[in-house]
Amino acid sequence: MTILTSVLSDLLKSLPNLRPQLYFKASLTALSHAMEDQVLAATFNQPLIIASFQHERFYRQEAHRYQRLAEKSNQIYVLSVLETEFRNDSQYYEKVAFDIDDPLSQEWHLVVIAENYSTCLVCHESKGSLRKNQELPDSIPSVDIDTARRFEGIWTYDRIVTLKAAELLLKRILLYRPELQEKVRAIMDRFNIDQENQDSMISTQYGYDIDTNPFVQRLVTYLQASQYKLHKAYRSIAAQARKESLVNSISTAIRRSLDPHEILQVAAQQLGTHLEACRCLIYRAQVTDIKATIEHEFLDRGVVSVLGQTWDLEYNPLFQEITQHLEGVCVADTITDSRVKRSASLSAIVKKFGVRSWLIEPVLFQGRLLGIVELHYCYFPSHVWQKGELDLVKAIATQIGAALIQAESFSHLEELNQQLEALDRTRSNLIAITGHELRTPLSTIQVCLESLYSEPDMPLELQQVMINTALADSERMRKLVQDFLTLSNLESGRVEWHPEALIVQECVDLALSRLRTRKEEIPQIKTYVVDSLPLVRADGDWLVEVLAKLIENACKFTPSIGEITIDARSNEEMVEVIVGDTGRGIEPQRLEIVFDRFYQEEGALRRTAGGTGLGLAICRQIVTGWGGKIWAESRGKDQGSQFHFTIPIVASDR
Ligand code: ADP
Repeated sequence: MTILTSVLSDLLKSLPNLRPQLYFKASLTALSHAMEDQVLAATFNQPLIIASFQHERFYRQEAHRYQRLAEKSNQIYVLSVLETEFRNDSQYYEKVAFDIDDPLSQEWHLVVIAENYSTCLVCHESKGSLRKNQELPDSIPSVDIDTARRFEGIWTYDRIVTLKAAELLLKRILLYRPELQEKVRAIMDRFNIDQENQDSMISTQYGYDIDTNPFVQRLVTYLQASQYKLHKAYRSIAAQARKESLVNSISTAIRRSLDPHEILQVAAQQLGTHLEACRCLIYRAQVTDIKATIEHEFLDRGVVSVLGQTWDLEYNPLFQEITQHLEGVCVADTITDSRVKRSASLSAIVKKFGVRSWLIEPVLFQGRLLGIVELHYCYFPSHVWQKGELDLVKAIATQIGAALIQAESFSHLEELNQQLEALDRTRSNLIAITGHELRTPLSTIQVCLESLYSEPDMPLELQQVMINTALADSERMRKLVQDFLTLSNLESGRVEWHPEALIVQECVDLALSRLRTRKEEIPQIKTYVVDSLPLVRADGDWLVEVLAKLIENACKFTPSIGEITIDARSNEEMVEVIVGDTGRGIEPQRLEIVFDRFYQEEGALRRTAGGTGLGLAICRQIVTGWGGKIWAESRGKDQGSQFHFTIPIVASDR
């Protein structure tokens, strides 16, 4: 059997004045239901109903309606493609299974004819309507793709059109079910369906005495439903837009700033406001941390702040859950949650800060935990978490993770930059030193040795002077090179520290004994270090080094009739050591620059007291290394100086 004509095109051929229109599937569904409801509501006498479905599944959705319609008429014909179960059958109504190749499988028809009523819907699916729609993004559900399918055709109350459509369809039915010849003939005769002179037989086309209310009602209901769907879609689009703008504003903050504090504050504020939380907290935490301090907070009005509070992480089952699965944890209601009930620290937080619903989301970067985002809802009833909210928190946490890593890399870069700059300065200084400092003693040594070599008859005393000068200058060079290396090692962090508990007096004694072996004539030194001074925590060698350098300076710049004092006092955290002298003093504007590298008041080349100009710079590096401070005080020229420095006291004493 070859039937390759479309009912719509046959209809348009027979009635060339008809103008087909475009319909979405959703509209056709509404119209079909309205047409069927009209029959169910009206008191037609055995109307003719022909419905053709493209697929079995569409028929199945409507089968129950046709069973109800079957109570109204014995002239119902339902067509559908022969796919799996749909077969020719006459049980409730006439089922007509057509071939898959039949153009009917691309068409949608519904014809209703009664004595004083007729309507029909004859449509053909537009080519490519589905294909186009299938290209829609995954986010659009398939049901929406289905309703967006487009058809072209006719929907009308016109009796001539309806009778023609019925004729075409009934003839098609007879091809599949010739045994229905008699039944079909009867209905054709009853409504003059294939009569040549249809026009004259139609008494009234319009002005039916029919209640069209069910039809209108159905359309209005459908319109309402579509409107509701549209409203829902708008709402979800608006929520999506809000989410995107939130993520954007946080991303902008991240791009604008490299200050993690600012980034986290913006994130907490935006997220808290958007999700209407009572609190939004962000803090740094690593998997191995046992505690965390709340650093950033958004607070709703009237909610108690937790800023600066310390959260226990070690015995916190929620945090443990996060570190195990690296996934967020959600507590719908803290009152009933067993994890909260079992943990004393969680119960304490819940009680003290009134947390009712709790969300804890990890801030991760490449699987590494960097911090936590928390949301608290404190009111009754408990908050019901929506999937969209959880997704949003996750998206923000991801942004925060990237921001933190970015800020971390930047600060590393800055540190590296500073180190490079310091290295560069050191290198330039080295060149300056080579030029000015090393060259002078080196040429002196050279002159002395050359004279000794070229004048073998030189008097013995002069030879002695030459040798002593060469030795003194080579010692000066040795010291300079040694101090320079020490300072570079300290500045580049290549020094190993061995902190230990130390008695200050013992270190002072060691420094003094080192000094006494070197100096012959030194001013009087008095020490006032009391026995009750607490132990200090520092590297012993370096502490002795600082003391020795300060005492040595005091000796250098104080006449031998002057006096040097070593004093020490303590507060709760630090011991302060003061090395004072009655020497030449320091002018107020130079009190700070004396700690600069290579600073010497009289200039390197005019130095009288010896030294390298690196001693105080070395002392500052050492003292800062153990967390202390060093500074100079003096009432001015010839008023003596005091050098102060602090050392942390041993923690257990506190
Ligand atoms: P130097 O090797 O020249 O002593 P320092 O770094 O130890 O290098 O000291 C830098 C400069 O600080 C000294 O050259 C001197 O001008 C000044 N200074 C240091 N200690 C004293 C002090 N006790 N009295 C006066 N000036 C001092």
